[in-house]
Amino acid sequence: SKSANSEKVYKVGVDTTYPPFEFKEGDEYKGIDIELINAIAKNQGFEIELSPMDFGGIIPAMQANQLDVAIAGMSITDERKKIVDFSTPYFDAGLIVVVKEDNTTIKSADDLKGKKVAVKKGTTGAKYAVDNAAKLGIEVVQFNDSPAMFQEVSNGNADALIEDYPVISYAIAQKDLGLKLVGDRLNGDQYGIAVLKGENKELLEKINNGLAELKKDGTYDKILKTYLGE
Ligand code: GLN
Repeated sequence: SKSANSEKVYKVGVDTTYPPFEFKEGDEYKGIDIELINAIAKNQGFEIELSPMDFGGIIPAMQANQLDVAIAGMSITDERKKIVDFSTPYFDAGLIVVVKEDNTTIKSADDLKGKKVAVKKGTTGAKYAVDNAAKLGIEVVQFNDSPAMFQEVSNGNADALIEDYPVISYAIAQKDLGLKLVGDRLNGDQYGIAVLKGENKELLEKINNGLAELKKDGTYDKILKTYLGE
């Protein structure tokens, strides 16, 4: 039997609130990311401890060696690959523009000229908005978490927001946010589990092996079904 003291406990960065991937219910964290990383750890025999934080703080925390792993609906990007190594992709997402339900003038990103667009700090949505601000003619306002960003458009302070398709779809289905999706997805972001580049080769191998096993034995599908239905 193993000694608790000699076992390394990997610190896992998760977003504070990003349903259906991670969210707090009572004192407990739940969601697809939470169940996946727990199942991978169990399958591969390693210990984890969750460390919830604003998404924008996760990559900096990894660089500062405060985290070993991140699973946070984090999109695999070339920019991030300079800092972290990603697992094989585990979920297809992609960005989408969202407006108030009664808005009839904004039908896609092309209709955002002169509009105020809310995004979340450090995300691919924020990067898309900032990179295309001049081209689209938008003003970008940045928030620390997704609920604050949703609220900004719900209450009319911003005209639109950019969020991951599965996350905003889930939020709209769960709550009466008074929001709707418009246009096609802006990209084909895929989620990956991140470990600090070069330093955790063995851990990344375990994560990839665990992910493959959970896909094979049906656990992955079962977790998705729990949160997304059929
Ligand atoms: N998928 C997006 C990104 O990686 C948003 C992630 C998040 O908000 N948790 O930037």
